[in-house]
Amino acid sequence: TRTPVNVTVTGAAGQIGYALLFRIASGQLLGADVPVKLRLLEITPALKAAEGTAMELDDCAFPLLQGIDITDDPNVAFSGANVGLLVGARPRTAGMERGDLLAANGGIFGPQGKAINDNAADDIKILVVGNPANTNALIARASAPDVPASRFTAMTRLDHNRALSQLAKKTGAPLTEIRRLTIWGNHSATQYPDIFHAEVAGKNAAEVVNDEKWLAEDFIPTVAKRGAAIIAARGASSAASAANAAIDHVFTWVNGTPDGDWTSAGIVSDGSYGVPEGLISSFPVTAKDGKFEIVQGLDINDFSRSRIDASVQELADERDAVRELGLI
Ligand code: NDP
Repeated sequence: TRTPVNVTVTGAAGQIGYALLFRIASGQLLGADVPVKLRLLEITPALKAAEGTAMELDDCAFPLLQGIDITDDPNVAFSGANVGLLVGARPRTAGMERGDLLAANGGIFGPQGKAINDNAADDIKILVVGNPANTNALIARASAPDVPASRFTAMTRLDHNRALSQLAKKTGAPLTEIRRLTIWGNHSATQYPDIFHAEVAGKNAAEVVNDEKWLAEDFIPTVAKRGAAIIAARGASSAASAANAAIDHVFTWVNGTPDGDWTSAGIVSDGSYGVPEGLISSFPVTAKDGKFEIVQGLDINDFSRSRIDASVQELADERDAVRELGLI
């Protein structure tokens, strides 16, 4: 029998947490043969709600679920953790300045980074979902000097999946025929979904679409502003699709990308494609043996270059702001 994998989820009593935990426990995060132990981290007032979710998890009688711990102490939550899904974050509220938002999140992701540094297992893999995800990941990473930088990632898989779905609709091709899409930059409205290297049934996607107006005025804004459209329609932010993307991200990281395809993830830049070293930016990535690698050698045309640069500039500005606040 395999040793269980310790999976820590922060903000576990929130909306995304509720959509995520049952799928982790059923084997969809790591594989249908991998037992898991869950650690739920919440702020003290939300512990009770987390206990309710844990009762429901018990009631599912998932064969792979070998235990649930609930705590408000990050050191306990990350003790021996192999996978950390950092979902809880301080949302932006009306009238809040960016500096206030970054400072509030620094107060969450700094201590969590330190707790990861001091307590997690050697093979810890971190996915930050809570926004601003890229910069929260940067803060956690800065507080975890003993953990390799490559273990800190930020989620752009939801943006990737949204782009896949929009492209499938536009071309009429099934999703299974679309490959090599890329989300570049920040998980924010400046992100750039790139179809110039994508393929639809083996043909270049930009050539199949052959409609730059659609690209600039429909596809890119639809993908980038999808979160707001869902709030407007549903009266609540996306939760099940965000949880689904988190599952996809970790499953791919652990189990690899299919031959000939890639995905998108926010990972620490090594300077590739002119993205300053150290920024946590979304790139086209393959995964193999539990490691993400940036796809190299893609030609970046002017249309793409200006959009990638704008999103990366936003990441650099966020980094400078958290640096000034002393958070990194
Ligand atoms: P959700 O579970 O809906 O969202 C959690 C975070 O995910 C938010 O920062 C949200 O950002 C982000 N997110 C990223 N991508 C998406 C997406 N595509 N769609 C929606 N959200 C996305 O929030 P809830 O308020 O329901 O729950 C948050 C929980 O976290 C609460 O239970 C709270 O107590 C807890 N919390 C725990 C902390 C801790 O463990 N130390 C710290 C802070 C909070 P955005 O707001 O921009 O949508």
